Amino acid sequence: MSDTKRSDLVVLGAGPGGYTAAFRAADLGKKVTLIERYPTLGGVCLNVGCIPSKALLHVARVLAEIEELGELGIDLGKPKPDPKTIRQFSEQTVSKLTGGLQQMAKQRGVEVIHGTAGFSSPHSVTVKNKDSTTEVSFDQIIVAAGSRPIPLPASLLEQSDDPRILDSTSALQLNPMPKRLLVIGGGIIGLEMATVYDALGSDVTVVEMQDQLIPGCDADLVRPLAKRIKDRYQAIYLNTRVSAVKLLKSHIEVRFDGDSKTPDQAEFDAVLVAIGRRPNGDLLACDKAGLRVDERGFIPVDDQMRTNVPNIFAIGDINGQPMLAHKASHEGKVAAEVAAGHKSGFEDRVIPSVAYTDPEVAWAGLTETEAKQNSIAYAKGVFPWAASGRSLTLGRSEGLTKILFEPDTQRILGIGICGPHAGDLIAEGVLAIEMGADAGDLALTIHPHPTLSETIGFAAEVFEGTITDLYIPRKKAQ
Ligand code: FAD
Repeated sequence: MSDTKRSDLVVLGAGPGGYTAAFRAADLGKKVTLIERYPTLGGVCLNVGCIPSKALLHVARVLAEIEELGELGIDLGKPKPDPKTIRQFSEQTVSKLTGGLQQMAKQRGVEVIHGTAGFSSPHSVTVKNKDSTTEVSFDQIIVAAGSRPIPLPASLLEQSDDPRILDSTSALQLNPMPKRLLVIGGGIIGLEMATVYDALGSDVTVVEMQDQLIPGCDADLVRPLAKRIKDRYQAIYLNTRVSAVKLLKSHIEVRFDGDSKTPDQAEFDAVLVAIGRRPNGDLLACDKAGLRVDERGFIPVDDQMRTNVPNIFAIGDINGQPMLAHKASHEGKVAAEVAAGHKSGFEDRVIPSVAYTDPEVAWAGLTETEAKQNSIAYAKGVFPWAASGRSLTLGRSEGLTKILFEPDTQRILGIGICGPHAGDLIAEGVLAIEMGADAGDLALTIHPHPTLSETIGFAAEVFEGTITDLYIPRKKAQ
């Protein structure tokens, strides 16, 4: 069956970028069609990304707390996690959210078409599903088709469809639950899933080709996490590449090319490939619309989310780094507003990053690594959580809060936090940077006691030299 439809605005892809753009445009009076190839809305984030992974990480935290209770004299015995029930919890969480999106699309009069879309011209896409082909024409389109996991190259692994080779999507299924799991890639996604599998009883090994976990984050922020997981995991190999993956009947043999601490090879029961994601710009027949896609698959945009074709916008993972849901949704609003004739723009000065590991690691704005690389002058205040009453009451002392300041103005340039709930705490720093706050603004803000949020005020006090919750010897006056 073939059909034709017309719309003011088409949104291609219903992830956090796409559904936000579609809903905002509908609220601004546009007739919107949202096209999605999967049966539910919400994209990678809701279906196979942020939400299911955080549901599993919640289970991992509860299991860790049961373990920690042992140290407090409460022995609940060894937990017996049931992957099927845990998976159901994650799936139910996801379906509550995706069901809500479907409902809100209906309430706003956004027409949803399920099928795979590709451009047929700058003003039309062809949408195919198993029953029909629909040609949808439009005045404007917002491309929000996201990204996909990068598989291991065929030179390392010939047969990638073996169920023991996991990616970030299949790993959420917790099936199989391997005794020995290798995680290739020590970035955020790899380490979050490592946290889950470790809690559920797998012996986890992580291999990372760079010299630290979570490359791109300051080393001092990652250190408490690295220390904790070093004690828990089977092994962590840094500066190491995987040079071959051999699928044998009884196990998987992996060869490593690393430094003297890394063995030449080791055996595993499953391998999770978490080596990054690539944008889907190469899958949309963009050439038929004259739409520029770069060599990596990204669709370049300006700060109004416009591509090289005036009526085509691109948002989210498909237009560039960082590939994060909150970047996608904010860009979605900008694109919808610009499409509706508003003078909106996207300022990406502060996009926070969070690893929901245990402990969590979060950072925003300028990092020390970037400051050093680009010779940017900075001063810093660091507050160790070993001196935080709240942190100690949680049985945790390894965290830290670090704030970078502009030396002349004392304005906040960047913030990094490692410790439980760092992902929630970082928001205060993000707001401070957005508002152009300085050290005094943070230090003089009365934070509730005892909370982890106090550590932000304390880090500013360390910088100012007014801290009383630590003793920092003064330099003698010259
Ligand atoms: P997507 O969410 O990828 O949505 C794109 C949609 O387009 C998909 O639904 C896809 O089916 C559809 N589509 C693609 N091509 C077509 C086509 N041709 N026709 C029709 N439909 C099409 N980010 C965070 O900020 N916080 C987190 O905690 C976090 N955790 C993550 C955990 C995991 C395991 C993963 C994999 C990712 C995580 N991310 C996280 C990243 C986050 O999921 C993405 O940045 C976000 O989903 C990007 O949104 P998007 O709208 O650009 O694209």
